[in-house]
Amino acid sequence: MDSIRFIADVHLAKVAKYMRLLGFDTLYFNQIDDSTLLQIAAKEKRYILTKDRGLAQRSDRVYLVKEKEIKGQIYEILRHFAVKQCEPFTRCLVDNALLQPVSKEKIIDRLPQRVIGWCNKFWICPVCGRIYWHGTHFLRMKKFIDEVCGEIQARALVEE
Ligand SMILES: [Zn+2]
Repeated sequence: MDSIRFIADVHLAKVAKYMRLLGFDTLYFNQIDDSTLLQIAAKEKRYILTKDRGLAQRSDRVYLVKEKEIKGQIYEILRHFAVKQCEPFTRCLVDNALLQPVSKEKIIDRLPQRVIGWCNKFWICPVCGRIYWHGTHFLRMKKFIDEVCGEIQARALVEE
């Protein structure tokens, strides 16, 4: 996995969620001041994603996102950082932790009845305990994720 890591500012919650969905280590805090954001970025070698021009001028670790719509924003970020690899559906969307595979038997009492019948692969977040499976939300997102990953792979091939 690319070692590139991000931290999204408070206005980019959706960007953080999509970046995690694609497998990128992306921190996000509901409330954080610019100085703390800059400190974390410097300490953990993360790039800050923001829509705030003022913040963008304070460090070269800050990237000013120009697009307005979420999917455009994701493409913009991945192109800017020339990302060549993604590992979608490997991170918890809520807290950024790496998911671990878990057997159906272990978590069956926590699954909705409608899922038990048709789904056999599950992942669990070691931090918050949420269970993930490839359900309807996954299918809705999959087309976009496939498009993004396709572009990333195409770029990696061109630059090899
Ligand atoms: Zn979690």
